[in-house]
Amino acid sequence: MEKEVVSRNFIEQYIDQDLKEGVYTGVCTRFPPEPNGYLHIGHAKSILLNYGLAKEYGGQFNLRFDDTNPAKEETEFVESIQRDIEWLGVDWKEHLYFASDYFEQMYQAAEALIKKGKAYVCDLSAEEIREYRGTLKEPGKESPYRNRSVEENLDLFRRMRAGEFEDGSRVLRAKIDMASPNINMRDPVIYRIAHLSHQRQGDAWCIYPMYDFAHPIEDAIEGITHSICTLEFEDHRPLYDWSIRETADDMHYPSTPRQIEFAKLYLTNVVTGKRYIKKLVADGVVDGWDDPRLVTIAALKRRGYTPESIQRFVELCGVAKANSSVDYAQLEFCIRDDLKLKAPRMMAVLDPVKLVIDNYPDGQVEYLDAPNNKDNEALGSRKIPFAKELYIEREDFMENPPRKYFRMYPGNEVRLMYAYFVKCTDIEKDADGNVTVIHCTYDPASRGGESPDGRKVKGTIHWVAAPTAFEAECRLYENLIDEEKGVYNEDGSMNLNPDSLKIMEHCYLEPALADAKAYDTYQFVRNGFFNADAKLSEPGRPVFGRVVSLKSSFKLPKGN
Ligand code: ATP
Ligand code: MG
Repeated sequence: MEKEVVSRNFIEQYIDQDLKEGVYTGVCTRFPPEPNGYLHIGHAKSILLNYGLAKEYGGQFNLRFDDTNPAKEETEFVESIQRDIEWLGVDWKEHLYFASDYFEQMYQAAEALIKKGKAYVCDLSAEEIREYRGTLKEPGKESPYRNRSVEENLDLFRRMRAGEFEDGSRVLRAKIDMASPNINMRDPVIYRIAHLSHQRQGDAWCIYPMYDFAHPIEDAIEGITHSICTLEFEDHRPLYDWSIRETADDMHYPSTPRQIEFAKLYLTNVVTGKRYIKKLVADGVVDGWDDPRLVTIAALKRRGYTPESIQRFVELCGVAKANSSVDYAQLEFCIRDDLKLKAPRMMAVLDPVKLVIDNYPDGQVEYLDAPNNKDNEALGSRKIPFAKELYIEREDFMENPPRKYFRMYPGNEVRLMYAYFVKCTDIEKDADGNVTVIHCTYDPASRGGESPDGRKVKGTIHWVAAPTAFEAECRLYENLIDEEKGVYNEDGSMNLNPDSLKIMEHCYLEPALADAKAYDTYQFVRNGFFNADAKLSEPGRPVFGRVVSLKSSFKLPKGN
């Protein structure tokens, strides 16, 4: 029991206490995405955290689109966000909401503030407002419009709504304290004029609420109890509380939500910010928001990640109060571990060189048994064709090997996985000295790759029979950008890794892989986990991309 208490994260501890003290009788959380891009791995953390808390406390989870800025928002994003959240395994049931549906209530809340003398229409320009705001060291200056009468403010605000004024000519500001040490409290703008069509509201509005005013009201209207957000909003919390407190008498909210901040999830060597991802998409560096090199949820799905692997990753990350980066290898560990037993293990040669078994009968094809996953018998077994001519991996042969190279070289005997022992006898080269054919002899007594007489071979290599091989394209990925080295170069261009996409056009695969359908995932022995790319594959013509390599630099911490 004690361990249970100790291992509760700080958010759970706050909630436990709130429930114990009767501040709230239940728990209601939300995920409030702005539909201005696709969700990424950082959002997955927030989604699973909020959803997990609602489930843990038997509460409610709302998905609410924070669609208060029509300039950047699109229906495509509203749809992709729902698709991705559903894929993550989150069920918001009937609790799908749109902030724009509360525009009328927000407007009424703003009028209520005006009537209380807590908000005023200000005619300063955006630049002047910035100048008047002061700095961290110096207090701000009051706007000359700060002491307009309630009547004048109401009249002007109503005329703002009616569309009488141009964009940027006036704003509505909260009347709080220009000398506050917290700059967010120095009469923040809460409504602006923007003659823009809204993707859901059409032209119903030409004034739009600012995030810091809209967000708390959205939470309060929905009866959210714990409004969990990221650290950059910590300094905004006093304004969050102010907006709810000052409008509560008029709005009769079902709850007074409590804002709790946690640290954003950052990954090493990867850009997670929507802004950066958007630029990579817009510049055509990637083939869309779901490019397998990105860490959007759509990209992770296309890359071959599973919802389970992402859930596990988020759990391993935990919830922290201080910003830090999580090693990208930890994410890779989670998918590797998830696929280890699930994925069939097949043979695929990515960089082929021909191997000819001189003493094997011409024209013969025999079928050898191979387990589909030796660690998971439930996946069964299959027959793999074997023939005189095979392909092996170019790097599995060396003419002049260094010490401790146990794979194929002249005179050395190795095991062809599930097949036979073969000994290299000769090689052919082209005019440039590249090896074109490797010759060998096989020991028919070693069928199945078993030693016939107790003699040992140190190397086991994979292969594909040439006559039955299926030729396909395989793609290898590396990180697009090393964020730690800086997203931008000095000249303002993005610091891209030129090797982030490697296309291997002529790979030879076991024939069974020709049937792979979008998202089907395999282990290609010794080469990593691969899946059929959902965007590039066609029926009977799959294109494979590497989900993750087999080697890991990440070790699971004790206790997991
Ligand atoms: P980005 O920082 O990538 O531009 P955003 O914060 O602008 O994303 P929103 O749609 O406004 O994107 O965010 C929805 C929710 O997701 C917010 O509550 C935000 O705090 C949370 N969130 C965004 N990025 C992360 C992250 N890296 N880790 C955890 N939560 C995040
Ligand atoms: Mg945002």
